[in-house]
Amino acid sequence: MAESNLMEKIVALCKRRGFVFPGSEIYGGLAGTYDYGPLGAELNNNIKQYWWKTFVYKRRDVYGLNASILMQARVWEASGHTEGFTDPLVEDKVTHKRYRADHLLEEAGVDVHDLSVGQMGEKMRELKLKSPDGNALTEPKIFNLLVEASLGAVEGEKEKVYLRGEITQGVHVNFKNILDSMHPKLPFGIAQIGKAFRNEIVPGNFLYRVREFEQMELQYYVKPDAEEGKRQYEYWKRFSMDWYQGLGIRKENLRFRQHEEHEKAHYAQEAWDIEYNSPMGWKEAWGIHHRGDWDLRRHEEFSGVSLEYLDPDTNERVTPWIIETSGGVGRALLFTLLDAYREDELGGEKRVYLALSPKIAPVKAAIFPLLKNKPELVAKANEVFASLQSQVPSIQFDDNGNIGKRYRRQDEIGTPFCITIDFDTLGEKPELKDTVTLRHRDSGEQERLTVLEAAQRIQSALS
Ligand code: ATP
Repeated sequence: MAESNLMEKIVALCKRRGFVFPGSEIYGGLAGTYDYGPLGAELNNNIKQYWWKTFVYKRRDVYGLNASILMQARVWEASGHTEGFTDPLVEDKVTHKRYRADHLLEEAGVDVHDLSVGQMGEKMRELKLKSPDGNALTEPKIFNLLVEASLGAVEGEKEKVYLRGEITQGVHVNFKNILDSMHPKLPFGIAQIGKAFRNEIVPGNFLYRVREFEQMELQYYVKPDAEEGKRQYEYWKRFSMDWYQGLGIRKENLRFRQHEEHEKAHYAQEAWDIEYNSPMGWKEAWGIHHRGDWDLRRHEEFSGVSLEYLDPDTNERVTPWIIETSGGVGRALLFTLLDAYREDELGGEKRVYLALSPKIAPVKAAIFPLLKNKPELVAKANEVFASLQSQVPSIQFDDNGNIGKRYRRQDEIGTPFCITIDFDTLGEKPELKDTVTLRHRDSGEQERLTVLEAAQRIQSALS
């Protein structure tokens, strides 16, 4: 299967089976936005739950947070976004990496002082400047990635605000609140999942680069000490990779990549990405950044409020360093789907299935009566469905079409288990009364189990 073909197949499957739809579709769409349908919403939630379980519930040193999307504009001044995002930006047309046009020109020996953006564009064309990866560049534009909004009831007196460009700052502005309310000791972390908005120059590649997306982030505060910073950084790098692999993505399709000096964000002392081997090449899936004390110092400076940590053992006041591990939910969902897509032959028939990990699969099990027109089978299937519903989340009932078709439908959405109720369940063979067949998605193998055993089998696969 050609790789580019794979992306098209995923986009089509997502639309056809209710995972992801283009945003505002009946009005002709809105670039860079997507809506999650019933199965996509489920998969999305499962990925977030898996993240929250790993980064919050399983830890004693991490606190959850849910900060506002709207924050005072001053927050973005302090974080460097209003300033840092208003550069003459160009974008690599292939990798979509953004660069400062003035930096690229300076590296090529051009004095950029007094050059307007238009003149920078002319100069770049004249020099046939390429991106550091050797690809064509877009025209430079003065660009701010922050999405603006205005708040207030009176026209003319509205206050300019921004939809947050990253969820990070909501955490740092609450650093003092967490210290005062939870009294944590260093090192500790604050975790958050939430929406972020970016006026991306070129949205594209389906969910990969969108203008509204969700992020999952841990900001981990450590003692400002070189050894400790390095140790924690390495720890969270590995931890993040383990989590990403836990999505069920094949190990060989994930790798670490260190940022080149020119790629590093203004705050980053150290920056590595986890990349996924996608149909578009190796692409950023996740970022692990050593932010130093940049954020706390800047918010201290701009707000006038002390954001120091008082060490209860030494009575020493310090500004902690921050290790950040951060990634997009939609990107994780896209990469998981791309990695799970399989075409094979089962019982002499071609089929498509998603080899999703049961813990994130949108539907955990489907219950079928063997025949739709036998009321006794349907009644028993309904009974099994009701009893399983209280034990297993997100199960489906399907009596539509022949059993083979129903298996194919479930395979295509990645349902790990199908349970069929047949005449033996009703006691046609007395020794099999109240047993069902449990079919495994990937192998197509079936086993005969009691309803209780089937439920246990499913539950253990989910944990
Ligand atoms: P990129 O270089 O791809 O634009 P970034 O380095 O700007 O990403 P960060 O600011 O580090 O990204 O954001 C953290 C994570 O948020 C990324 O690793 C990615 O998973 C996700 N993310 C960032 N921008 C987008 C976007 N436009 N659409 C979807 N997910 C995104």
